[in-house]
Amino acid sequence: MPNYQATADWARAQDAADPLRAFRDEFLIPPHEGRDSVYFCGNSLGLQPRAVRDAVNAELDYWGELAVEGHFKGRLPWMDYHEYVRDDLAAIVGAQPGEVVAMNTLGVNLHLMMVSFYRPTAERPAILIEAGAFPTDRYAVESQVRFHGFDPATALIELEADEPNGTISLQAIERALAEHGSRIALVMLPGVQYRNGQTFDLKAITTLAHQHGCVVGFDLAHAVGNLPLQLHDSGADFAIWCSYKYLNSGPGAVGGAFVHQRHATATLPRFAGWWGHDKVTRFQMGPQFVPTAGADGWQLSNPPILALAPLRVSLEIFRRAGIDRLRAKSLQLTGYLEWLVNHQLPDVLEVVTPADPARRGAQLSIRVSGGRARGRSLFEYLMEHGVIGDWREPDVIRISPAPLYNRFADCLAFAEAVRAWRQAG
Ligand SMILES: *Cc1c(COP(=O)(O)O)cnc(C)c1O
Repeated sequence: MPNYQATADWARAQDAADPLRAFRDEFLIPPHEGRDSVYFCGNSLGLQPRAVRDAVNAELDYWGELAVEGHFKGRLPWMDYHEYVRDDLAAIVGAQPGEVVAMNTLGVNLHLMMVSFYRPTAERPAILIEAGAFPTDRYAVESQVRFHGFDPATALIELEADEPNGTISLQAIERALAEHGSRIALVMLPGVQYRNGQTFDLKAITTLAHQHGCVVGFDLAHAVGNLPLQLHDSGADFAIWCSYKYLNSGPGAVGGAFVHQRHATATLPRFAGWWGHDKVTRFQMGPQFVPTAGADGWQLSNPPILALAPLRVSLEIFRRAGIDRLRAKSLQLTGYLEWLVNHQLPDVLEVVTPADPARRGAQLSIRVSGGRARGRSLFEYLMEHGVIGDWREPDVIRISPAPLYNRFADCLAFAEAVRAWRQAG
């Protein structure tokens, strides 16, 4: 373990020695009373890269100057715009370029993927998810079960936590598959659980689930841009994510989807649209849908250029920083935050995210002792003092140091703010 110290000098020295420190200057840090706030909410809405404004303005200019010709002219003609983010997106999730597409939003992509990959039968009608899944995920799978005429009471299996603090072990997933596997059509789990911050082993889960004949999809909302991922090698059938959290692509940003290469040209049922049609013949405007091979074939509409511009800018930052270097820094930062909490504030705070760094990303979910009212009191104190986390009922504050723009000094500022609150009683 590094020799962490709870002093401003130590934190400053770490920040000065950080090879990624310059990236912070590429972001707009929300101000608080004339200074930078301490922003730990990148797991909810990542900060704005400074370059986004010019990138969006450039597209507005093309629209003004070129109008419909903007599809074919300008620096980045709109016709192929989604392809400009493809390679960087593939790199960040560990996929082949043809396996990923930027489109829609997470919830829409989840439904579109389930149209193709959740094909329940009377013998095999069920979906396995984690108990306490994010509302969209739960609503989406439940509504798909009903849409196919099955009853969620029997066809929706919600895996309960088997470990302290509400995390789920791989063994519990293995047991659930051993018990229900032959009835499960789809295993749908997160890369990082949004509430407790635990990671899931995509490859191990996929291998197990495939042995039982199940299709496997992952929700990477809290994993993309947070952890290095190897989606292709995991063997997962599909994945979906949003881009406004760690990917810093703006509120309601364009989401993403992954479809494993082995399904690239498979004749899967799908909801089709003209942008998913084979690019070569798309503008013959024929009545017959011929899908583009790969993830592109799931697109419905011509993409929102003004929303893709920030994603392009953001992914370019990740390319320069490198997800492996970001993860190395993230382990240090989150490790420091954990150390501060455990050594300075154990009477107030308890980390509920797994202590094993391999089983978590940037986020620590931190329970405030003494119940909801006390938790709210601390949370509101932090917000008033410019320390921005987020609140999860009934007593958890989520704090996520993002290695692109957070510093060791930020982690120390969090601990000092909690100490000041404790002292104020
Ligand atoms: C953030 C998040 C969502 C949000 O979905 P949108 O369609 O982008 O609004 C869904 N699921 C999980 C697990 C999330 O973390």
